[in-house]
Amino acid sequence: MVLGEDVRAARTTAVPFADCWITPAARDAAAQVLASGWVTSGPLVGLFESSFAATVGAAHAVAVSSCTAGIELALRSLRLPAGAPVLTSTLTFCGAVQAIHHAGLQPVLVDVDKVTGLTTPETVARACRTVRPAAMVVVHWAGDPVDVAELAAAAGLTPDRVVEDAAHAVGTWQGGVPVGSGSAVCFSFYATKNLPIGEGGMVTTDDLDRAAWMRTTRLHGMTADAWRRYLPGGSWRYDVEEAGLKANLTDLQAAIGHAQLASLPDWQARRHEIAARYDAALAELPGVGLPHRPMPAEGVHAWHLYPVRIDGGHRDHVQAQLAAREISTSVHFIPVHHLSYFRTSCVLPEDGLPGADRIFEQLISLPIYPRLRDDQVDATCDALADAVRSARGGEPCPSL
Ligand SMILES: *Cc1c(COP(=O)(O)O)cnc(C)c1O
Repeated sequence: MVLGEDVRAARTTAVPFADCWITPAARDAAAQVLASGWVTSGPLVGLFESSFAATVGAAHAVAVSSCTAGIELALRSLRLPAGAPVLTSTLTFCGAVQAIHHAGLQPVLVDVDKVTGLTTPETVARACRTVRPAAMVVVHWAGDPVDVAELAAAAGLTPDRVVEDAAHAVGTWQGGVPVGSGSAVCFSFYATKNLPIGEGGMVTTDDLDRAAWMRTTRLHGMTADAWRRYLPGGSWRYDVEEAGLKANLTDLQAAIGHAQLASLPDWQARRHEIAARYDAALAELPGVGLPHRPMPAEGVHAWHLYPVRIDGGHRDHVQAQLAAREISTSVHFIPVHHLSYFRTSCVLPEDGLPGADRIFEQLISLPIYPRLRDDQVDATCDALADAVRSARGGEPCPSL
């Protein structure tokens, strides 16, 4: 009861930070699965895998319980020696670094550009001065594409040693192709992501053998899953050839994901509209830096996040002013090296991670999701302008 009231109170926020919309068609699809008597991994998983693969231009897709599990699985499929060094951006979600630990490997933190928030050939090369990486996890932060081949070359790695964290990148294109056609690309269907299921993930790959290995390993390493064992004519026999995870997606989740895909083009179009509306309202605002985005030839931003930079140490003031007007914002991310566990469990460069430290002080993620209304975007921009002005006591400031 108390929980229900808290949830209702949260819903009265004028501009919530995030929204999880499960379409009526997806709810119907979920109800059909519940009524069918088969709710765990089964035929709907295969259907969602093929529809998702087609959406992102992938040869193979393996549905998993989360992006975090997907990153672990993709790293395990490389069969690296225990404790092998794996590069990762420090400006990422903690789960992506936990996945490197889960795979029995050693995370090595890479700095980001202080303006774009992205890892660059220079920051990667800097991290490689003291370690020779065995693999790398790259993140398309906010939905902004990084050039995977360029970063792989900077790390001295072949492309198959690079795992893409595409948690923000449903709808991102790199160059002329959607993110998803690489050798191991991990997506998230967490409640706030561009294709929400609530929980769930997918690994796409261009390698048939790697897909087959991940398909077995996601479910205990069993050579036949329950659906196939219980099919008419199926056998109860199976083998386990090596260590596996419990990281399968259920048919209930897959039915929702498959139905949600039909709305994805409209949702992405709306995200682009909102980003353009923010751009127009904030471009001339002194002391506010707009998010980096690729040039047309470099790719397409998915606008999972709209992270602006606030100059002059005023980020916390601005965030509090917005909160006072019931506009919720967030920060993506607290750099991993600011979290106590990772300070001791990761390899950090001796001269620090200055780009990430700098941008972290400035970042605010503004609300962006398909059902965000224009008047909510405008209210957010008005409040941001007032907050930046009041932070400076009317003083002009250098633009970012
Ligand atoms: C959300 C997120 C993840 C984790 O996704 P899950 O599906 O919740 O495991 C990983 N990396 C980044 C950058 C994320 O934002």
